[in-house]
Amino acid sequence: MNGPMPGQKISLPGVKHVIAIASGKGGVGKSTVAANLALALHMHGQRVGLMDADIYGPSVPLMFNLGVVDQTKVPFPIEQYGLKLMSMGFLLDPNQAVIWRGPKVAQAVGSFLAQVPWGELDFLVIDLPPGTGDAQLTLSQQAPLTGAVIVTQPAEVSLIDARKGVRMFQEVRVPILGIVENMSYLTMPDGNRLSPFGSGGGKKLANEIGVPLLGELPIDPQVSACGDSGEPIVRKLPDHPVSKSYVDLANTI
Ligand code: ADP
Repeated sequence: MNGPMPGQKISLPGVKHVIAIASGKGGVGKSTVAANLALALHMHGQRVGLMDADIYGPSVPLMFNLGVVDQTKVPFPIEQYGLKLMSMGFLLDPNQAVIWRGPKVAQAVGSFLAQVPWGELDFLVIDLPPGTGDAQLTLSQQAPLTGAVIVTQPAEVSLIDARKGVRMFQEVRVPILGIVENMSYLTMPDGNRLSPFGSGGGKKLANEIGVPLLGELPIDPQVSACGDSGEPIVRKLPDHPVSKSYVDLANTI
């Protein structure tokens, strides 16, 4: 695939807003937030695309029950639950480890992003690969980003990496729309809240860099159960409190 030249911006003429969902490290719930936020935006009546650029752990095929995709249909976006979806996972063998180097990742994702006929969209949500290496930096530079949302857990170990993410976007002058703290607390059967990863980390980071804390989302077994079942919680259980939090979150974007 021919990719954009280094430093060259990708043009997505029919797309009004391109939002990157990023995290300093893997496993914090970035893909879960990206998928549910995209669905919540769709519930607000927006035309939404979701690009799963997480080459190291593409999750759109599982979360949207797409399984194996006919490769001849790629790079046309696949419609599911009202979203236009594209995943690096459609191109990769799920059993093969990805050991591409940063520049190759950026080139592959960049050219893929540029070649997909997204059509007219209000929002394109891009689920970036976790981390702040070359690939992420190049992608943040090349994709015509309106802004980035940083997902973190409240624990300090997660915040350290989230701060690196913040610096990366600042370096390429992409505005940070805000912080989403995921896995903030667990509601016990007696109604009390338990915070296994500590509390206040997302707020601390948001204050540090002067951006809003967009949400504090609880740990809830339904979130992972729905994602694993091929229908993210916002779509499967729209009346669940977590889904309502996502609808509120979409209002702030
Ligand atoms: P990342 O994209 O940051 O690697 P994922 O979105 O894949 O993380 O989430 C990692 C795992 O945690 C998945 O199994 C997902 O279902 C689960 N998960 C994410 N957020 C929550 C949450 N708020 N409550 C419960 N499980 C969650």
